[in-house]
Amino acid sequence: MPNNDNTCWFCEKRVTEQIYQVNVKKDDAREIIKVPACESCQTIHQKVVKHSLIIFFTIAVGGAVATMLYILASSTEFSGSGISIGAGIALAWSIPALFIAFLWNKKLSKGVKPQRKILQYPPLKDKLDSGYQVAPLP
Ligand SMILES: [Zn+2]
Repeated sequence: MPNNDNTCWFCEKRVTEQIYQVNVKKDDAREIIKVPACESCQTIHQKVVKHSLIIFFTIAVGGAVATMLYILASSTEFSGSGISIGAGIALAWSIPALFIAFLWNKKLSKGVKPQRKILQYPPLKDKLDSGYQVAPLP
């Protein structure tokens, strides 16, 4: 595995000046770890987040609409069994949506490590193993 300092950690192909900064701390010690991430990988990571949000809203809105339609169509009271059937419809709706989101993101990020894998970046992993914790950027 190439690990030139300037090779993007996520695709391991492109040499880049772009980085992600991760702030770590242990007691009073603070350090910023710089993880090389090329522009293309950063764009993919942003898109994955956006897709996940779109899918989430699709599920939420779709589930709510399906529940409303069910209640209107069936004249079931909006209580007791009506709610649990509505929840069932929302759940059934969300499974294919999650599956589509999964495939969509998988296709998009082909050959690129997902952003959460940043924790496996060796210099960062060494810090975490020695008791440091990830903290928000100061
Ligand atoms: Zn990259």
